[in-house]
Formats: sequence, structure tokens, C-alpha cells
Amino acid sequence: MKKSISIAMRKKKRIALVAHDNKKQDLIEWAMYNRGNLGDHEIFATGTTGKLLEEELSLTVHKLKSGPLGGDQQVGAKISENEIDILIFFWDPLEPQPHDPDVKALLRIAVVWNIPIACNRASADFIFSSHLMKEDYPRIVVDYNDYLNRSI
Ligand code: PGA
Repeated sequence: MKKSISIAMRKKKRIALVAHDNKKQDLIEWAMYNRGNLGDHEIFATGTTGKLLEEELSLTVHKLKSGPLGGDQQVGAKISENEIDILIFFWDPLEPQPHDPDVKALLRIAVVWNIPIACNRASADFIFSSHLMKEDYPRIVVDYNDYLNRSI
């Protein structure tokens, strides 16, 4: 059986918000509806998404680079460094993106580190209405030390 470790997620979550252009309206509407709850947490976002969130909701946002300019990769790096607990990522299923490989990489690394991911409004609502949003949570992750020590 694979060994696992537990990573503590605090009551105050570090949440990354990312939306492709055709989904930005959706994300802003969702964020307005959840404005109260979002204020209890620490918010990160890719550049343009973050700028809109600040303008429309007066939220304090840690803004990274714009997605196609490296922002998605920055979010992925933060997930692997345990600096992001939750990913809300409204990606566009109907249009190819110039940074499609980065989109795939971000979704992949979020699964590697077993963080909750919402890719549409309904999933984001279910995550936000969970009592776990208001509690510490021990997130179970595969112990990747075994991977580091694999025989080559
Ligand atoms: P943006 O990036 O918020 O800077 O538009 C989003 C993305 O395409 O990943």
C-alpha cells in the first residue's frame, strides 16, 4: 500500500481564482454572491482575473502574472509549495487557449497535491457551502518520498 502524509489546511484558506475570458463574467457573479465568505480567506488570482475582482468587489487579491504570461504556472508552483489550498478555475470548454499546455499542467498539479478544484459555478458553490471551509482540514497526500527514492 502507498504511504501517505497529511498536510494541514487551516481554517483561513488560501484560494486561487482563475477564469478564462469567456468565463470571467461567471466568476465575478459567483464571487459577488460569495463576497462575504471570500473575505474570510486569502485570495490569489491570475492578473486579469485579479484586477477585475479588485475593481468589482473591492477584494484584496494577491495578483500573479496574467494566465497566458505565466500566471497559471505560478499558481501551479504555489500549489506544489503548499501556498494554495483551493483552486477555483473556470476554464473555457469551447475555445482553445494559447496556453492550453499550462491549463493542463495546472489541473494536473492540483490533482497531484489533492487540493479541492472547482471548474464551474456549481462545483464552486458545493465547495463553498461545505462546513470544511470553516475548519482546519488534514489533506491526505501520497508520500512522494517513495517516488524520490525509487530505483532507477
Ligand atoms: P487572466 O488569466 O486572469 O490573466 O486572464 C486567466 C488564464 O487564462 O489563465
